[in-house]
Parts: sequence; structure tokens; C-alpha cells
Amino acid sequence: MQRADSATPAMAAKYWNLFVNRLAHTVQSQKPGDDGKHYYYRPKGGHRLSLETIRQHLNGQQTIALYAINPKTQRSKWVAIDADYESALEDLLKLQWELSQDGIESALEKSRRGGHLWIFADQPLLARDCRIYIYNLARRLRVPVKGGAGLAQGIEVFPRQDELRADEFGNAIRGPLGIHRAVRQRYWFYSADYRLEAQLEYLSSLRKITEQEMIRFVAGLTMPEEFQPRSKAVLPPYDPNRREFRILDHVGSVRRRSRNYWTKCPSCAQQGRDRSGDNLAICIADPRKYKCWAGCTKEMIRAAVGCPIRSRIAS
Ligand SMILES: [Zn+2]
Repeated sequence: MQRADSATPAMAAKYWNLFVNRLAHTVQSQKPGDDGKHYYYRPKGGHRLSLETIRQHLNGQQTIALYAINPKTQRSKWVAIDADYESALEDLLKLQWELSQDGIESALEKSRRGGHLWIFADQPLLARDCRIYIYNLARRLRVPVKGGAGLAQGIEVFPRQDELRADEFGNAIRGPLGIHRAVRQRYWFYSADYRLEAQLEYLSSLRKITEQEMIRFVAGLTMPEEFQPRSKAVLPPYDPNRREFRILDHVGSVRRRSRNYWTKCPSCAQQGRDRSGDNLAICIADPRKYKCWAGCTKEMIRAAVGCPIRSRIAS
């Protein structure tokens, strides 16, 4: 451990002001799972985020991920745009430029395969407004959005939900400036010295977007239709004897982890992706529910296994 760059309580406090929306968080496992990956899990005993946790994160003793939305307010202090595909940095720079045209300063952080672009607010903003703003921006710039129009690759916007129920958490994103358990590396923000103090100073000095500005930016805008959440179909109780499409008949060997089977996603495989063979999660209790974590849609997966979903629209 490099003592020269260890975090002080004041640095942890600065980090807290920038990034913490709620006390729930996740922690990256110290040891890899059977598949060699370091997963994030919610700490046992409902352990809540503290300044000490942040200090340990900055010092590399543990690595945390942070939630965007506080369900009591449906707001977040920040928006993060995650991109990790071929032209990811190019797209993030496009977004950064376009944001600057609205007077918004954003910070670009390296990631393993691309980057995260961060925007900070002076007061927490409604998650819904943040999302409407960024999705419209992306559409204007023709930046691909993962999941939109069935795209497997594209940006992901945190907050990932418009709102949460009181018992929901939404999606967490790797807390910046920690040390990734697997690669033992810290990912820095590009525009400041690669020292903790300089980085936090830089982030704190960025102009913060105000609620009035956000209200102005989203006036008259709605969520583009391709990104609107589709209402979930209510399924009849699962009956294993009923004849219907079974994803488990169409995948190779599966591994069990917590409540899911994990296996290679057929749609990813078709695109030469998912070499580690664990992008597809299939719910053990109800295998009608399955999801590709790389973003393939159900339509793409069904097409890949040769059982396309019949279109309800007559052609
Ligand atoms: Zn996939």
C-alpha cells in the first residue's frame, strides 16, 4: 500500500458529499468466485455506508459500488454514463462536448474497457429528469444506448430507473477512485493529477448543475419511446409440465449461483462475445425469466436459438 497517497477523513468527507445518495451500497468480494470474477454483494447485517467505509475504499482495503437513487426522494446527486464498447470514449467525448454547450461540466473517468462520464448536481435531482435529459441528448447525437432498439452495445445511464419502491435499490456503479479487486488498479479521472487529493479537489471544483437548470433542460421533453420501460407481463403461475418455450433446452452447461443459473448467452455467442460463458442468468424457481447482462433482448436471444418470438404485428 502506498502510504504517500492514503485517504484522510477530510478526503472521505469530500467524497461523501459528491457521491453518496443513500447508505445502502455493495462491496466487491475480496476473493474471486469459481469463475474468477469478483462480484459485488450487499454487505451482511445491513451494514451501512460510513466515512470509514469510504476511507477504506479510497485506501484500497475494500471496494464499494454506489447506488444512484434515494427512494425517499427519487433523486440522485449525480448522473454517470457508463460506456465500455469499441468506440466508447469517442461517444463519451461527444456527450461531454454537448453537455458543455448547455453549460454543464462533466468529469471523465477511465474504466477497464472504456469510461464513465460523471455529472454532479448542487442539490439531488429527480432521477426521471436526469434520464429524460441524457437519453434525449444521446438520441440527438446518435450515441447508441444499450437495450434501446434492441442494441446490445451502447451507453448505460445511472440512475438506471426513473423511480424506486421503498424496498428497491436499483443499480449500483463502481465507486470511483477505488482499487478494483481483480486488476489491482485505480482508475483515475483524466483531467487532474493522478493523486487522490488532486482528484477530489478537481471533482469538487466542477460547476454543479442546479435544479432550475435541469427543469429548463427537460421542459417539453419526454423519454424517447424506444427507452420507455415496457410494462411487465404478468405470468400465470409456473407449471413445469406445460409445453412452452424453455430456455434451458437451448443453452449449454449451466452453473448455479444464488437464485440463478448462469450460462453462455446464445445471442452474445452469435456475436462472438461472452467467452466466459456467464452473461445469461436464468431464474431457477421460474426459468421463464431470463436475462442477458450484456444487454441482449429476449427477442435477440429467442432468434439466436432459432425460436423467434412471433411478432404480434401482422406483417
Ligand atoms: Zn447476450
